[in-house]
Order: sequence, then structure tokens, then C-alpha cells
Amino acid sequence: MNTFTNEPLTDFSKAENKNKMLAALEKVSHECGKTYPLIINGEEIMTKATIQSINPSNVDQTIGIVSKASKHEAEKALEAAYNTFTLCADWKSTTPKIRADYCFKAAQRLQEQRFEFAAWMTYEVGKNWAEADADVAEAIDFLNFYGHEAIRFGKGGDVLQYPGEKNELVYIPLGVCVVIPPWNFPLAILVGMTSAAFVTGNTVVLKPSSETPVIAYKFVKLLEEIGLPPGVVNYVPGSGSEVGDYLVTHPKTRMIAFTGSKDVGLHINELAAKTAPTQKWIKRVIVEMGGKDTIIVDKDCNFESAVDGVIASAFGFSGQKCSACSRVVIDESLYDKFIEQLVQKAKTITIDEAQKNPPMGPVSSKQAFTSILNYIEIGKKEGELVLGGKKIEKNGYYIEPTIIKDVSPTARIAQEEIFGPVLACIKSKSFDESLAIVNNTMYGLTGAVYSNNKKNLDKAKHEFYIGNLYLNRKCTGALVGVHPFGGFNMSGTDSKAGGNDYLLLFLQAKSIAEKENVPGNSR
Ligand code: NAD
Repeated sequence: MNTFTNEPLTDFSKAENKNKMLAALEKVSHECGKTYPLIINGEEIMTKATIQSINPSNVDQTIGIVSKASKHEAEKALEAAYNTFTLCADWKSTTPKIRADYCFKAAQRLQEQRFEFAAWMTYEVGKNWAEADADVAEAIDFLNFYGHEAIRFGKGGDVLQYPGEKNELVYIPLGVCVVIPPWNFPLAILVGMTSAAFVTGNTVVLKPSSETPVIAYKFVKLLEEIGLPPGVVNYVPGSGSEVGDYLVTHPKTRMIAFTGSKDVGLHINELAAKTAPTQKWIKRVIVEMGGKDTIIVDKDCNFESAVDGVIASAFGFSGQKCSACSRVVIDESLYDKFIEQLVQKAKTITIDEAQKNPPMGPVSSKQAFTSILNYIEIGKKEGELVLGGKKIEKNGYYIEPTIIKDVSPTARIAQEEIFGPVLACIKSKSFDESLAIVNNTMYGLTGAVYSNNKKNLDKAKHEFYIGNLYLNRKCTGALVGVHPFGGFNMSGTDSKAGGNDYLLLFLQAKSIAEKENVPGNSR
């Protein structure tokens, strides 16, 4: 029986939890700046070339210096994963239950080290405490959920029985899975894709984001500590264009699980579609990509709740979620009053170093900082800046919560993913016009509607063309098992992470028909 339940979030208003987080931050701060090896087939390999991971809240602080794989080490990792898949008896003949137990054990370890893992993310990517804690909770959920799911798939699929035959449908793994996660959920997404791959019997080459290689290392070490056989998950940080491309094009790669930007996702999809001369299969590709997520505010709605929902969705983790609200489409009857309220609320958001647990921390990197500020300049020409718009002079990548009104639905800031604390406000004459606006981008990831009008909510259920629709609630915060997550169109392959279909993507089904012994017919 599937006994999965979501991991509760930590209540930091309780002194006990607050003290645990402060202690974890203190402990981790003393461990910052260490060096980390690659891990290939259980062997730790130091390289000359390195990746420096820095704290976006304080760019003088180095979080870790991580070995950087070249094509040579990428090849080694692929060979290790391939040999483990094809030869390692400890892995090949393992039952789904034993593989699931690795997930359950890893989830338990994460629970035990919850504050420490959250603290690493606070330093490495600038998440405030609640965001970092939610990231760990989601990682625990993925491990537990996929563990149960693997046991379910291990029982095979339903088939009809044909007279005189025993008929079965069994699910078997694919082979080597290259896992390429983004930096913005540096634990949850990495853990979700990696565990889905190994719990189904595949082996993994994990190339983490160069912005968050330390938290990735911590998780791979945790897998080693719980006894996952060497070679099942191989850790090779490296350049996307060098190591990423090499792994994707490699003939022994059987599948790729990627989450990240549209441009990189499409590039990977294209590369993976080309067949190398010695390749024996068509590579399977999961690419989950960006969004231009929109909230509709209907003329009849719970006004306060809509304001709160837009603020939380637009500025939580500085708008750096694929599900973040970056456009709000407001009925003309409420437009001015709604924007006034948004501005009032957003003004109260304080910004500080993530370790100090502010409502909003920095953005993740210099590259993101420059790109977001550039979009703000574009936005100032495309609409009227009503809040923010500036960087904050501190020793990190801080940008004010920014609201731009009177934006045309076809403006660049209404069409392109900004991935920062920038909200475009668009005026609409009717609910139908609002629906036409929300569907006018190439993306289709998340969105929400605030309305008290049942007919309009029903219309949104049919016509709002996105993978994750929320009615009268914010558009961020998908829960594993509850809100299976993934988008349409250029938001990706809609693989629905945390859903009942997800593990199928890491498996292939084999149909077996066995002729039954007919008495007297044995000659
Ligand atoms: P990114 O595309 O820059 O990088 C993602 C990963 O791809 C990283 O590990 C990176 O090193 C690697 N990479 C880069 N170039 C590569 C190449 N040529 N070959 C192989 N790998 C390569 O994305 P990011 O900045 O890390 O993450 C932010 C993006 O991710 C946003 O667009 C966001 O919307 C999206 N995202 C989507 C989801 C979802 O579920 N749809 C979830 C989280 C983030």
C-alpha cells in the first residue's frame, strides 16, 4: 500500500526550530571554502580545473571549490554508469523493493540533516529559511513518493488474459540516464530526477549546475553513506557546453532528464535526436523548461487574497521559480486599485542576506543580476515603472521588487522569461480577453485565476492552456503527489514530476506471453 504523505514544512516561529537553523548556519559557515572531488564509480577524483561556488548574498564568501570534469572524466563517468548497469550484479538483479529502500533511507537521512541541507542552500543560492526548508521537504517527498511508485511499477501492468496463455506486462529500466538539473531548486529537482532514474533500475551520470555544485555533492555523498552501490550515481560537475553536450551526444547514453532554460532544453533535444553510428536506441528525452506564468484577476474576486497571491508568486525567492508569476492580467474595473495595493504590499518586502532570513534575498548570480536589470530597462520603455527598478548597493546581487504597469500583452517583458523579481501588469476588458492574453506566449507552465464567478473558473479549466492551473490560490508551491508538475508547449515535455505517470518515463514495458501446458499435447 502506498503510505506516502507530504513532509511537513518547518515552523520557524518556534524557538526550537529557529535555534536549530541558526546552529546549522553557524556550522555550515565554518565548512565553507572546502574543496570537493568528482565521484566516479565510488572513486573521488580531484581535477586541476575547478568551479568556484560563491554566496550570492556576499560575493566575497566562497561556498566551495569543486573539481571540474572535462570530456575525459565525463567519458569515465559514462563508462562507469554503463558498466554498472550492464554488469553489476548488485544493481542488475536488485528488486524494486531494495531500490526503493535506498530512497526511503536517503529520505530519512535528509530528515535527520534537514537544517544543515537547508543552510547549505541558504549560502549557495540565497534562499531564505522557509524557501530552503521547502526545497529539502520537496526532496524528501520525491524520494518517498518515487520509492512507493517503483514498488507499484515492480508489480507490472494490467493485461487481459488470453485463453491458453499466461500474459504479463513488466517494466524494465532503460540504461544510463544523464541527469542535468538547474540551480533554482538545487536539491529538490536534482534529487527528484536522480532518484526517479535509479529507483527504476537505471544508472546515472549527474551533471549539476555550476552555480550549485556543493549541495549536489552533499546529496551524492549521502547516497554513498546509505550504501548505494558505487557507479549507480556518478557526480561530474562541468561546463554545460563541454561536458553537458558530450554526455548528451554519447552513444551509450540511453536517456536524458533535464530541467532548465528553454534554449538549453531545445539544444539538448536536438542533439539527442541525432543518432551516433554505434548507437543502438532512440534516446529518450525529458526536457522541462521555462515559463511566463500569469495570474488573472477577475472583476469579481476576493481582492485581498488575490493581492497576497500575486505578491507571494511574483517575489518569493526573488521570482526565481519556473512557476513564478511574472504577469498579472487585471480586469479594468479593479486595475488601478489593485496595482495600488500591490505596490503598498511589495514596498514592505525587505531585502537582505539570505542567512538573516529576510522575505527576499539576492538573485543567484552575476549573470542573472545583469540580465534582470537589462529587462528592467526594457520594461521601463514598455510600460510605467511603479515600484523598484534598481539594484541595491550591497556586496551581493540584490534587486528591488519591481512592478511595471500598462504593459502591452505583446511587449518583451510580457513574453520573455525574466526569472527575477519583476512583475508586468496588463489591463483587460473582460475575462475572455484575459484568457486570450494568458495564452499568448510560447510557454504553458503555471498560472492562476482569482474569481468568484463559477462560469469563468470553469472556462479557465478548459481554456487556460498550461500544465499547472491554480484557482483562487497562488501559482507557486506545487506539492509532490498533489500537484504533479510540468508544462506544455515551450515549457517542456509535461513530464509531471511528482505524479503517478512520472516513473514510466524512466522505464520500458515488456509484454510476455507464455503458452500454457496443454495436457496430452506435450510431444
Ligand atoms: P540552464 O538552462 O542555464 O541550465 C540548466 C542545466 O543545464 C545546468 O546544469 C547547466 O549547467 C546545464 N547546461 C547548460 N548548457 C548545457 C548544454 N549545452 N548541454 C547540457 N547541459 C547544459 O537553466 P538554469 O539557469 O540552471 O535554470 C533556470 C531555468 O530553469 C529557468 O528557465 C526556469 O524556468 C527553468 N526551470 C524549469 C522548471 C520546470 O519544471 N519546468 C523547474 C525549475 C527551473
